[in-house]
Amino acid sequence: MSFENSGGFDRMWADLAAVGRDGTSGGYRRYAWTREDAVLREWFRGEASARGLEVVADRAGNLWAWAGDPDADGPGLVVGSHLDSVPDGGAFDGPLGVVSAFAALDRVDRAALRRPVGIACFADEEGARFGVACAGSRLLTGVLDPDRARALTDDDGTTMAEAMAAAGHHPGALGRDDEALRRVGTFLELHVEQGRALDAPVGVASAIWPHGRWRLDLRGRADHAGTTRLADRDDPMLRLAAAVLAARAAAERHGTVATVGKVRVRPNGVNAIPSEVTAWLDARGPAEDAVRAVVADVGTAAGAPPVEESWTASTDFDPGLRDRLATLLDAPVLPTGAGHDAGILSAAGVPTAMLFVRNPTGVSHSPAEHAEEADCRAGVAALARAIEALA
Ligand SMILES: [Zn+2]
Repeated sequence: MSFENSGGFDRMWADLAAVGRDGTSGGYRRYAWTREDAVLREWFRGEASARGLEVVADRAGNLWAWAGDPDADGPGLVVGSHLDSVPDGGAFDGPLGVVSAFAALDRVDRAALRRPVGIACFADEEGARFGVACAGSRLLTGVLDPDRARALTDDDGTTMAEAMAAAGHHPGALGRDDEALRRVGTFLELHVEQGRALDAPVGVASAIWPHGRWRLDLRGRADHAGTTRLADRDDPMLRLAAAVLAARAAAERHGTVATVGKVRVRPNGVNAIPSEVTAWLDARGPAEDAVRAVVADVGTAAGAPPVEESWTASTDFDPGLRDRLATLLDAPVLPTGAGHDAGILSAAGVPTAMLFVRNPTGVSHSPAEHAEEADCRAGVAALARAIEALA
């Protein structure tokens, strides 16, 4: 992309293009507290210091780059998003919000601002490594218990505490961070839209659907795939198959969406009946009771109650802020089925809004995720106008 008049967007986008990109899939693998994550954090610190912004890390490891002093002159307006990705994620989910924040700040006359402006880079938004989405903002706001967070493990058995420590962040410091929260008077996250709901370059979010993640632990008995009679088998894969079909049927019945996108099989051999199948269910919808009903149906089909790993209630963004931005930007208002740090901050009582940039195909969490250059440029311009209006 080329963004001559967008505050170096083009250069920043190019800087990030190769970080954590898989050569085969073309998708991004930017997981929390990895080497790639460290490169992205360094990049963020570099962009901040090039603009004279002071960077502070909060107790959860989220980064905040401040123009002005939020302790003396705050609370401030914070814009930003995240830089981590899902496995083989797209280039836009997260980085578009962070890069646009820097580019928008470059277009604003900082001397004319009435309050400090911060740019946030939230840690571990996707939860791709440790399983809890928005871990950074949940820790910041105290809705994720620090002991639970420290003990979360990745697929290699590394705990979040070990991963954080290896990356130079003190896991003992985890816990609600009132000092960091006090600085945030308003939070505004720009994000690529992740469906096909937006038919304009830029939109304003109304709400985030209630959504959650559940784990299915299905146990059976490992045995020989050739010599064990069908009648003698205890095969947990069959219960998973029933659960996956039940998830789809229940989602259709209750007007929600439901997905089983991650499965772990033990011992994971072609000629072995599995001893254990672990699967993860993601369920979301416009109404909380409908989502709960889907999860209950899946549990019945699986013969085991799903274990809730995370839950986010329906989040309505600040109505005054939403209406003000919709009018200022002459932009449509729409809900989303995707979770965001903005939802966590909003639920914690921070006046929060989101801007969406159009996604022409609706594809997201995939290497094929895309936004048009002109729409990204419109997003930067909208964010700059919002900063001028709100700060
Ligand atoms: Zn995102």
